Amino acid sequence: MVMVSQIIEPGLALSDEEIKNEFKNFLLNFSTTDEKGKPYFPYLNILEAMFDRRIRSISISYPDLALYNPRLAKLLLDNPREVLKIFATALQETIKDLHPEIPENILRRYRVRIKDIGGEVPIRNLFLSDYVGKIVEFRALIVRTTQVKQFLRRALYVCDVCGRIFPFESQEFYVKPRTCPYPDCSNTSPGKIRLLSEGQEFEEYQELVVQELPEELPAGKLPESCAVIVYGDLVDKVRPGDRVKITGIVLTEPERKLIEGRRPLYRTYVEAIYIDKAETEEEELKLSEEEIQRILSLKNDPDLERKIYESIAPSIYGLDTIKRAIAAQLFGGVPKIYPDGTRVRGDIHILLIGDPGTAKSQLLKYVANLAPRAIYTSGKGASAAGLTAAVIRTEDGWALEAGVLVLADKGIACIDEFDKMREDDRRAIHEALEQQTVSIAKAGIVATLNARTSVLAAANPKYGRYYPNRGLKDNIDLPPPILSRFDLIFIIKDVPSGDRDRELAEHVLSMHSKYRNPVPSIPPDLFKKLVLYAREHVTPRLSKKAIEKLKEFYLEMRRSAGRYQTDSLEMHPIPITPRHLEALVRLTEAHARMLLKEVADERDAEFAIQLMAESLRQVAYDVESEVIDVSSIYTGETFTQRSRYMIVLDIIRRLQNEYSEGVPISEVVKRCEAKGIPREFVMQVIQKEKMRGELYEKRPGYILFT
Ligand SMILES: [Zn+2]
Repeated sequence: MVMVSQIIEPGLALSDEEIKNEFKNFLLNFSTTDEKGKPYFPYLNILEAMFDRRIRSISISYPDLALYNPRLAKLLLDNPREVLKIFATALQETIKDLHPEIPENILRRYRVRIKDIGGEVPIRNLFLSDYVGKIVEFRALIVRTTQVKQFLRRALYVCDVCGRIFPFESQEFYVKPRTCPYPDCSNTSPGKIRLLSEGQEFEEYQELVVQELPEELPAGKLPESCAVIVYGDLVDKVRPGDRVKITGIVLTEPERKLIEGRRPLYRTYVEAIYIDKAETEEEELKLSEEEIQRILSLKNDPDLERKIYESIAPSIYGLDTIKRAIAAQLFGGVPKIYPDGTRVRGDIHILLIGDPGTAKSQLLKYVANLAPRAIYTSGKGASAAGLTAAVIRTEDGWALEAGVLVLADKGIACIDEFDKMREDDRRAIHEALEQQTVSIAKAGIVATLNARTSVLAAANPKYGRYYPNRGLKDNIDLPPPILSRFDLIFIIKDVPSGDRDRELAEHVLSMHSKYRNPVPSIPPDLFKKLVLYAREHVTPRLSKKAIEKLKEFYLEMRRSAGRYQTDSLEMHPIPITPRHLEALVRLTEAHARMLLKEVADERDAEFAIQLMAESLRQVAYDVESEVIDVSSIYTGETFTQRSRYMIVLDIIRRLQNEYSEGVPISEVVKRCEAKGIPREFVMQVIQKEKMRGELYEKRPGYILFT
């Protein structure tokens, strides 16, 4: 990159006419060489194609200009708005020379765009006064796009005194001509000049709101956002959720009308002059040769798997199964597109349901920092768009705003308090989780946004803590169709146990000792790159044996349903569904990918089966019938149908309101018998629940929930 400030002496001013001619010169004569060393004229080539292909702008790479004419390049940096206007005139005149037949009103639409300024500025710094009026470049995530409007660029006016018609051009704000431009006219009153409705020329106009990329945020800071306006062929080029590099000019506008005696406050915005959609992605995936070597050396490390697990939230004690699941989620499975166009996601969704105080939020925040492109949020959402997207009313119309699942496209959304999501999100989230798109149609805005996002969600149990005998649906305030979108669901229970408590206490206390800070086996920086590398370069296929293994597990689970003896033939527990089979494939692929393997073998399948079996055991285990029954996830009814078992527990729970010092077992039996539940059964339930630690006998004959 040429550093212009080093090669230009101050005080070399040029007239507008000179700037125009030098820029024409650049357009026509700048040459460079292609890969084969042959010279060619990049801008001249574009100029010749512009007219035929209806291209309305030419994008100049700043280093080219700086190389060819450092003085012009420096002037552009110093005074971008004025100089760009002159450049546009130069371009229009050059095209006119090539195509004299082109109408003036078309010609006036041609624009010069500048890219590759270099020296990226973080969005939060754009608000510093140093940048006002200057050309800047920054990376951003598009959050909001407004409806497209027509900007009145040029209009015809008539002078009521001499009757002559003349054109007048608007800049960023509308200004009416104050006097008649003809020197021989005596009109001095602005009231005698009228805007004509014919002959108006418009340019497309749109406003964007952009924010900092999650990975560029300073630690612990919330993202800053900035308004960006675009004209002409930059309009409708980006959608909420896109990651872009923007070149633009920092401008200010008064926050309100300037009034003497009031504070003259201005706000900052950016007029974009170039938007690059591809750049950010390449930049992020660019790994140095050394980094690739470090990653590849991990491949031969026999301890890689253990090191990966140990690198996930080492400061949080235990939760080993969940950490394994999260590792799989970070690497992800392979998305597939079938010949009929159906797309099957590779992203793995995990839901954690936890008693309060079980470090769920800490875990989510840790993952949000560790994973590339991750966003941490609460189910209530930090913005009006919530988790999916929304059409919102702005000062002058409607705008489409992306929610978290769109903003974290190709990354991970860590959503705390998932059960508290807004009603709109509850409706839209099925599509976001399964098809990985968010469709919206409201107030004339119709859009489908990408949400190729893995979701790591945490929810609180409905009654403050999780009651295993109540089934999943009863424990959580989320409808079964949403629950069924999760590949894995885990319950984090805060069960008192002597050994575990001691270990946890030791672990927590050691965290506070500066001598024993947990050092992740793989530093977070390298971990992130490992994930990026694996997701980009490793696409595992399942081996025959892996497929065999998954099939075996699947069929065994299906069969176990049939074996269960029941008096009602219609009621079969459903142990596993085709949806689970897809999840198993994803988990198998993810495990292979995490070890940088191109083929997923039986070991990878074994990993998937273990995680799935553990998740099913936790959420779909019917306490009374002792079978795994996923229908409880789908319909909310357990196999034995909230049966007698549930009735007994409900009765105890209700009685607990009356007998806070201990519910007499005799009273429980009496009430149950009144509902046709025999005494032996009631005693069995109480016994079982005591074993599970849910009930305890306060004094002989009196029970309470723990
Ligand atoms: Zn006049």
